[in-house]
Formats: sequence, C-alpha cells, structure tokens
Amino acid sequence: MKKTLLFILILSLLPYSLAIGQQEQAEEKPDPMKNFSLVDETQPVSEKVKVGFDSITGKDTVTYLKFISDDLLEGRDTASEGYDIAALYAATMFELWGIKPAGDMERPSMDFRRMMMQGQPPAQAKRGYFQNIAFLETLGSEGQATVTWQKGLMKKTKSFSPDMDYTYRASGNQSMTAPVVFVGYGIQEPSLKFDEYKNLDVKGKFVMMLSEAPGKGDPESPFNQGELKKKYFPERQPRMMRRRRSTSPKFKVPTDLGAEAVLLVENSPDENADIARQYLNSQRINDERPIYPGTRRRMSLVDNIGRSMFGDSIPTIRISRKMANEILGMVDHDIGTLKGKIEGTLKSHSMALQGVSLSVKNKTESKLVNSMNVLGYIEGSDPELKNEAVVIGGHLDHLGRRGDYIFNGADDDGSGSVGVMEIAEAFAKNPVKPKRSIVFALWTGEEKGLLGSRYYVANPFIEKTAVNLNLDMISRVYDKEMLARSGRRWGIEVSKEVLEKIDPKKYVNCSFDANTPVIEEIIRKNNNHVGLHMRITGSKEATGGSDHAPFGQAKIPWTFFIAAMTEDYHQPSDSVDKVSADLMEKIIRLTYLAAFDLADK
Ligand SMILES: [Zn+2]
Repeated sequence: MKKTLLFILILSLLPYSLAIGQQEQAEEKPDPMKNFSLVDETQPVSEKVKVGFDSITGKDTVTYLKFISDDLLEGRDTASEGYDIAALYAATMFELWGIKPAGDMERPSMDFRRMMMQGQPPAQAKRGYFQNIAFLETLGSEGQATVTWQKGLMKKTKSFSPDMDYTYRASGNQSMTAPVVFVGYGIQEPSLKFDEYKNLDVKGKFVMMLSEAPGKGDPESPFNQGELKKKYFPERQPRMMRRRRSTSPKFKVPTDLGAEAVLLVENSPDENADIARQYLNSQRINDERPIYPGTRRRMSLVDNIGRSMFGDSIPTIRISRKMANEILGMVDHDIGTLKGKIEGTLKSHSMALQGVSLSVKNKTESKLVNSMNVLGYIEGSDPELKNEAVVIGGHLDHLGRRGDYIFNGADDDGSGSVGVMEIAEAFAKNPVKPKRSIVFALWTGEEKGLLGSRYYVANPFIEKTAVNLNLDMISRVYDKEMLARSGRRWGIEVSKEVLEKIDPKKYVNCSFDANTPVIEEIIRKNNNHVGLHMRITGSKEATGGSDHAPFGQAKIPWTFFIAAMTEDYHQPSDSVDKVSADLMEKIIRLTYLAAFDLADK
C-alpha cells in the first residue's frame, strides 16, 4: 500500500519538476544581445558637454586625414621625414586650439651664445609638444648557427644560414652556445596528465619544440575538444588581435625554467611551412599582390624600456623542419617519428640530445634614430584630481614606403590620430573642464612594436594615469558578411537574430578592461547620445597588438575602439577615399563623451 502511495505521489510531482527544469534551462540561455549596444534613437547631450560634442564633425576629421594620409608624407614611417611633418602638423593644431604642451622641456637652440653675446640671461627652457625617443634601428644582421655532436674523439658538425634554415629577430649582437633538449610540443596539461617537461632539466639549454599541439585536425584528439581546443588551436587571428607570445604558456614554461632559447619548429608537415618560403611569402600578402621591394625597418627602444613589462623574455628561433631533422639526426631521431609517437600515445617523448650542442651567433649592424610622441593636455578643474590623467591616444606612424609603394595608412591609424586631434579641439572649445586632466597622445613606433606608447607608460607626463582610451582603425565600415566573419575572429558567435538587427555602416568593436566594469556602463550610457551599433566585450587581459596594451600590462584600465579590418589592412590601398566620415564622427563623439565622464567621476 505504502509503495503504491509513494509511487502515485512521485508520479503527480513529475510534471512540476520537469517544468522547473525547463524554466532553469530557459533562464540559463545566454542573452544574445549581452555583448551589444545597438542604438538608433539618440538623446540630446547635456549642456555641460554640448559645445565640445557639436564641434566634432566627420567633415573636419576627413579634412585633417587628407593631409595626414597624403602621398607627400610617404606613409609616416617612424623616424622619417613624413612622420616628422605629420607630428609638427598635429602639434601646430594643438597650439592653435590652446591645448597645452605635454612633451619634453626644450631650450631654444642657439640661445646660449646669442644671449651671452647680447649680455642677456639665457631663455627659460619651456615645454614642447614632442616627447623625444631614441630608437635602435637594426640595419642588417648576419649570423650563423652550427650544431655539433661529440662523443669522445668522434665529432660531427653542421652549419645553417639565417632566413634559409632559421629566422631569428635579435636586436643587438648575440652569441649563444648550449646543449639541446627536445620537448615535443612543450606542453604541460594537468587535465590530461600530460607533461612534456617532466624529469627534464632545461636550464641554460636550447629547447626544441613543435608549434601548436598534438592532434591537429583530429576531431577525436582531447586537445581538439572544448576549452582545450580554444587554448591550443585558437581561431587564426589578425596580427593585431593575437595574444603576445610572452603570455602564451608554451613560452612561459621554458622562460620560467631558465632555458637559453626556444627552437620553434612548424607543426604542419607541409613544405610551404619551411623558413625560406615563409620569408618570401612574408614579403607579400597574397598571390594577387606584388612583392614589396626592400624590407620593413626594424627598431627597438634603447635599453628595451618596457620590454620586461611585455615579458618577451625568451629568445625564439624559428627553425625549418630540415634543420630540426639535421639536429635530431645527430642522435638518430627525426621529427616525423617522434611526432607520431606523441600523437599515438599522448605520452611525453622528451629527451636531452646526448652530446649535441648548438651555437647561434648573430651580429647586427644598427644605428640610433630619433622620433617623437606628440603630447598635449588640458588641466583638470579639481585641485586634487587634476593630478590624475585620462590618456586618449592613437598611433600616428604607419608603414612608410617600399620602393614606389606608399602605405598611406588613412585608416591605420590616420583615422585614430585625427580622432585624437578632433577630441582635443572639442575639450579645448568646451567651456566646462572635467575634474581630471586629459592627455592627448599621438604615438610613434606602434608598427615597430608599440614603442611610443610603451615609452610613455614608462615616462608619463602626469604620474597617475586613471584610464587609457585607444583609437586604432576607426574609419572603415563592415558589410554583413564581414560582420559574421568578425564574430568568429573575436571568438564570439554573432547570432543570426542579432546580425539582422545590426547596421554595418555604424558598427564598431569596443573592448575594455574587465577589471574596471564602470567603463562599460559609461560607454553604453553615452552611446544613447551617439547611436552606434557596437559590440562591447570585456577582457581581463589587454589583448591585441595596439597601444592600449602597454597600459593594460601596467595594470592601467583601458578601452580600445576598432572598426572594420578590411583587405586594405597594411596595404598601399588603405587610402582616404575609402573612409566613412559618419562612422568616424560617431566613434570620436562617443570617445569624447566617455572620456569626459571618466575624467569627471
Ligand atoms: Zn594600427
């Protein structure tokens, strides 16, 4: 009897528990609009910011951009005449608008002798708009690598050439000689009890490792499932959105274990992956495009300011498969067999190569060159908070010219640079000033490795930077297809439903420092005055190869705006006739409002 009653009770409760389950499921379904702010009906701005807001127009922005991206400036390469002209132009406009200089203290030239002769006291040093930076330009490098196997009196050696068998972008003269260890893929994955460094001493040694992870292209492989897939086979991303090598676990482990350097072997067994072909291909973007004469100029900051901040610590030498097999062949091993064993067993096959040592010598010819960040500011209205700065920046440099090809860089990052100028003018014109000071920065050396912004973070005009707002490539519109594709690039699926709602002509990506959620609130609130269709994503790490990254690395809150990445990216075809004045006007107005609020809170 009791059993029957209990059974009837359970039966009667079943529909309720099913309903509760379904409800919870409905509750868990993520809101497809979570990462979006799509505004069509805009609200007027407050009187407090109106004058500045209204002064920002797409028309003005394009006018400045025509000058900055003209052939005469020859693509504004760092430490070039074209760049210096663009910098002087921006500084002149800052001065015209009454923006105060925030660069180095300057002493007018020739003043000392003339003053002395005229018996006048020397002129007071005064501040300029340029923050001068010395760069080490690598003009050329030559080198060689030699592997030696020795056992008693028996000895074998083999030499290799740079840009044929290996590539190594060293700055300065370097010479390394050390034993070699093979670490497979160099992975430590506790969830799979897979540790290729177990019982291996790599301190002071060359670590030879394959790129990526086991099981490439094998859907069954545990490395190709869920979170592990994202970690080891992330979507191929454009350069500017890639994680810094230094932060990827594959390079962090040998760094922490004190290895001498990494010898990175391309995982994919396709001949094209070989160094020589890669080098040639790196000169052209794809087959439809020409090979640009010459090579890109290479520069680094003197004494590598901020390099430790980036943790690009361990030297990495990309070696060809052929070179890897020559080295392993010294002890009768080869990449193909070892890879097969690792894939087949998912067990470590790491080993020290007994009797094998490698020596890599690199001699670089270099010279000192000078360039400058352009810096201006308006002082905050609050006696305390004016000692904190909101830094609004974009990079003024671009790729320069290669033979007859001029990389005008209208979108990259002419658009962000004139955006910073337009915002500076707006703050100068707006009668009300926010509590914190605002620094307007045009960076040099971004295309060379974020050199200008890294230098500023180490040498700020105002000690405390409250937040950085970065504008890079804000002038090109998407189309629907690009939009769907961009979702994958950012690792976020854009649902069909959302895609239908988006107007690609007013679409922008905004990423912000997830450690400072108030930034998102302020941006969403102010978009109601501007009317952008925006994807807004928080990230704990300042990913992406643009100038907000050095601020993020220094734990300074940041925000980054970027619009469409088109096929003109890093091409001579990135010209002013393709930009959208409307889109730029909106993004620049939003940045002005957000900066005002962030400086005033
Ligand atoms: Zn850029």
